[in-house]
Order: sequence, then C-alpha cells, then structure tokens
Amino acid sequence: MPSLDPAVAAQLDATAETRIASLLEFLRIPSISALSEHAGDVRRAADWIVAELTRIGFEHAEVCETPWHPVVYADWLHAEGAPTVIVYCHYDVQPVDPIELWETAPFDPFVRDGRVIGRGSADDKGQLHMHLRAAEALFATRGGLPVNLRIVFEGEEESTSASLPGWLEANRFRLGADAVVISDTGFFEGNIPAITETLRGMLYTQIDVSGTPTDLHSGSYGGVVENPANALAQIIATLKDRDGRILIPGFYDDVLALDAKAKERMAVLPFDGDAYRESIQCGPLQGEAGYTVLQRTWARPTLDVNGLWSGFQGEGSKTIIPAHAHAKVSMRLVANQDPADLFPKFVAHVRAVCPPGVSVDVQLLGMGNPVRTATDHPVTLAAGRALEATFGRAPVFIGAGGSIPVAEMFVRQLALPVILLGFANPDDHAHAPNESMVLANYETGIRTIAMLWDILGHEGAGSSRG
Ligand SMILES: [Zn+2]
Repeated sequence: MPSLDPAVAAQLDATAETRIASLLEFLRIPSISALSEHAGDVRRAADWIVAELTRIGFEHAEVCETPWHPVVYADWLHAEGAPTVIVYCHYDVQPVDPIELWETAPFDPFVRDGRVIGRGSADDKGQLHMHLRAAEALFATRGGLPVNLRIVFEGEEESTSASLPGWLEANRFRLGADAVVISDTGFFEGNIPAITETLRGMLYTQIDVSGTPTDLHSGSYGGVVENPANALAQIIATLKDRDGRILIPGFYDDVLALDAKAKERMAVLPFDGDAYRESIQCGPLQGEAGYTVLQRTWARPTLDVNGLWSGFQGEGSKTIIPAHAHAKVSMRLVANQDPADLFPKFVAHVRAVCPPGVSVDVQLLGMGNPVRTATDHPVTLAAGRALEATFGRAPVFIGAGGSIPVAEMFVRQLALPVILLGFANPDDHAHAPNESMVLANYETGIRTIAMLWDILGHEGAGSSRG
C-alpha cells in the first residue's frame, strides 16, 4: 500500500487553518451562473482562482473568454516523462431558491459538526478547492509536481455548459493529455469511497398534439371530434408497458448488456430498498422486470413524462375539447445508445400511434451521449489505490443515473479517457438548501489527490506524452 509523502502530509497538517479560511473566502463569492445579475460574481470567482493558481506555482493561468461565463485554464508541464492529466471542476453554483429553507445565508459559509455548510461546498467549489490545495502542497514541498497538469475549470456547468464545446474545440492545441480527471461526483451511500464508472445519456423531446384552431364546447362536439388530450394520453400509453419496458421499435438495439463483472460490482454494494423508499417517500418500487434497483438506475435506459399540459386547469369545471395538448418526454440512455439515432425512431413511433383526427409534432429539446469509463485504465487504478490508502477502504464502482455532459464532451470531442473521482457525500444536499461538504472528505480527499499524482508520476498512465 502506498502512503502519502511525509513532507506533503506535514505541509497539509501545518496549513489546515489557512486552508479552511481560503475555502470559506472562495465560497463567499456568489458565482451563480444561471442569474445574469451574478455574472460579475462568476467572473470574480474566475479571477480568484487564477490568482490562486498563479500563486501556487501553475503557469499560463488565464481567465479565458467565451460567449458567456469564462473558463479558467492553467498548466504546469515540467514533469518530464510523466503523464499529463487534465483536471476538470466547475466554479459556478446553483441558485439558492428556496432561500427560506436555508438555516443560514447560503453565501456566508461556516464549519459546524464536521461539515462545511454553504452553496458550492460540495458541488463543486469545495472539490475544485481540494485540487488547488493538493497541488499547492506538492509545489510547496518540492517546487514542482510529479505529473503534468492542465487545469480546466468551468463557469457554466450548472447552466448547461453551453460554451464549453466551443472552448474545447478552440483550445485543442493545449489540451493534449493522457486522461481527464473530473471531480464533480460523490461517494456511495454511507459515505463509502467511490469511483463513478457510468453516466446515463439523455434524449429530451416535446410532443405537441393539435386539434381544432380553438377549444370547442364538449357538449356540442364531444364524441365527434378527436380530443388532443385524449389522443396524447393514448400516445403516451404506447411508450412503455406495465413491466417498464420501452416499446419504441429499435430502442434497445444498441443497449450494452450488463456483463458479469458489472453485475458483481453492483451486487456487493450495500443497498437498502426500504430505506431508499423511505427517503423519497414513494410507494412500492417500479421498473423494468428482471433488474435490481441499482441496475435500473445505472445500467438500463428509461423513459419518463416530465411535464404534461392541456385544456382547462383552473378551479372548478369548464367543459371543453382542448385545441392542443403537450408532453415533455425524456429518455435516459445507456451505452451504446445514440440519442441522434433514437430521435427519428421516437418520432416515427409517435406518428404511427397518433390517432387520426389530430396532428402531432415532436420537438427535440436536448441530447447527451451516455458515458462509460474504463475501469481498468491506469489512472482509474491509481485513483483506486490512492483512495484506499487515504480513506482506509477500497472504492466501490458506481454508476450515476444522471448525466455529466462535460464528461461526454471530453470523451467525444477530445477522445480522452475520463475518470470520475469525486468526494461529495450522498447526503450533502447538492443543488438544494443547506448544501454541505463533509470536512473529513475534503481533508482526506486532498491527500488522495496528492497521492494520485505521485502514483502516476512514478508509474505512468499507460501512454505517456509528458
Ligand atoms: Zn457539479
């Protein structure tokens, strides 16, 4: 078992107080990317990071302009023969609503009962700060890093990362690397160290059913004219069967079946179905027959109506046949499904089942590819060893039911292996009131990161381009 360089450990032990002060200072900047009145704060956070990167010892630290919020870039490329790793985190945060549910001001962070409480503490400014401090400890004790690092810190992650694809494309020349380490995920339930190996993709659509130009009297026309709301209900009923199986022809063609290894990795995870149900206060769990809850959430695609509206929605009754009806329908996808391939299949199915008498249109609202990381990649293996050495137990490999679009961008645009090494705790309330980060995860995670760079510096990452 490797252990953390004693000099680095001593540096970290001696700087605990200033480290927390710096974290709180960073969290005080209300870098909410979604709200235009905070655009100046997002930029202030970027400036703050660039000053830190420069002070620590990175080179070429720069606030890079994009059409919206800036990207922060920096590098240090003097570890000859060692691998080059891109580190991605984001410094923007979610809005704070509903503000009345916060016990304290979201941008007045503090430490209590072993947690740092404040917006961004876990997602993702706290994790970004961990990378700064790990690098700082290495620079301070050795004057350099054991690996080559390229820093890419984004300011739009919570607002769809609209500028990032263009920025990655334009900066290809300085993004050569062996792998990307993304720290924007978390541990498994019970605060068990974890590496995320799969992310689901997304196909987001809107179905619009139109009947007559205006609403009609349902007494005069009911039973004669097709009702768009009834028609939409019929369409939706054909999308999925009672066993949770999606009925769009060809939908499962490219789904990668779970192999024995992946099943085994999920089977060993402590999962308590009753506690799960209790935590979300739902009825009996539903889903695709023949799969466990974790398999359904991480490794199987699904389809959900996310919004549904038509006709009269006010108080009391109003007897109409509505002129139109709408549904937002999204599909979570898994490897190797391709949303661009599935969208026409979805449209063809909806058109085919739409009752005569009304017309239907399907809009494409969003797409993202699923991501499957390489669990046997040298950087993944090194991250696993660093986690085990610092947290005292080997990480579990987990999936995420949601998506991290940036992970998919690095894979698709730069063809780089991505390692999802995150330190948030499952109960940290990311995106919600009273967001917090477990202080022990923050502190130990800094040591994990420092150790990861050391292991890679010694052992390489498979195909060094240092
Ligand atoms: Zn995040």
